[in-house]
Amino acid sequence: MSFIIAIDGPAGSGKGTIASFIAEKLGFLNVDTGAMYRSVTLAVLRNNIDMNDKEKIIELAKTLQIDLKNIDGSIHAFLNGEDVSNEIRTPKVNASVSIVAAIKEVREIMVEHQRALAKDHDIVMEGRDIGTVVFPNANIKLYLEASAEERAQRRYKQNLEKGLEVPYEEVLESIKNRDKIDSTRADSPLRVPEDAVIVDTNGWLPEDARKNIYKLIDDLMGEN
Ligand code: C5P
Repeated sequence: MSFIIAIDGPAGSGKGTIASFIAEKLGFLNVDTGAMYRSVTLAVLRNNIDMNDKEKIIELAKTLQIDLKNIDGSIHAFLNGEDVSNEIRTPKVNASVSIVAAIKEVREIMVEHQRALAKDHDIVMEGRDIGTVVFPNANIKLYLEASAEERAQRRYKQNLEKGLEVPYEEVLESIKNRDKIDSTRADSPLRVPEDAVIVDTNGWLPEDARKNIYKLIDDLMGEN
């Protein structure tokens, strides 16, 4: 049996950073499930499919080959063999990803893929439904939280580092909008898994995150 660490939480709560620290520390496979939903969304946009046309979106999702590869310590997303890691982070994809991710059949395809990845790897997987739906029996479950303002501030800074100038108010609005859709959808809404350890990342800098998370993981691994 693989050892599974599930990390859930809203956009910008620190899941990506923390998952990569854990993967590095333990040598586990790191799976960013948000990148998978983003890749489907990018394909929908590229094919000019209407966001309300569920049938067409499902048909397309069935044909896509989505792969995640660790390149020099960061996760790259491949859509039908093409590296789309930058394109899946644009405001256009941000604005539509929660609509695509709310489609039950799209989620079924993604979840099957996610479970298959854990068949022969110890894994740290981050998303919105990992501890509740994908791996309800995960060995360790973390739920990360931070205020919407703090999360928007982090995303705003990350964008600037990537040369993307999106006004702070716009980032905050986009985050709040995704939070709302992700936590109120009928299928696999964002929830705190019952037996998760809640981690409040308000005020954490990346260097705090590494120290705090290593300590937490050491404690939790000791219990397993
Ligand atoms: O984690 P990230 O912000 O990249 O996720 C993008 C979007 O993908 C989320 O806002 C959510 O709509 C969707 N998602 C999901 N379930 C997951 C991971 C992401 O619905 N497990």
